[in-house]
Amino acid sequence: MENKKLPEQFAYWYGIPREEINWNPTIDEKKCVGCGMCVVSCGRNVFDYDREKRKAVVARPLQCLVGCKSCEAWCVFDAISFPDISYVKKIIKERKVLVKIKEKLKEKLEKNR
Ligand code: SF4
Ligand code: SF4
Repeated sequence: MENKKLPEQFAYWYGIPREEINWNPTIDEKKCVGCGMCVVSCGRNVFDYDREKRKAVVARPLQCLVGCKSCEAWCVFDAISFPDISYVKKIIKERKVLVKIKEKLKEKLEKNR
């Protein structure tokens, strides 16, 4: 899987280069019936649709929101899987993501005053 052009807004996840984080959906081709649910519903345009095979394709894996598993839930054919969520929690702890969150929270609360 290759992410050809990673738009700037997806390049980092709380200061961590996105390509250092191994988080994206995997599709089991045998189970995918090509319903299109994931293609249409993902807000980050991670999927393409192969018209010939009538299957979803993970075309832009690095655009997947770290920790999101929505498409796994939407796929009633259980064709989508992710790494264990403990992987994300480990990154949050080890890469000090909560320090960045603290800053962002402060900014947000100031804005909403
Ligand atoms: S939701 Fe599941 S079955 Fe439907 S296109 Fe996506 S992977 Fe395939
Ligand atoms: S987990 Fe969320 S962001 Fe990632 S591909 Fe699925 S719906 Fe899109």
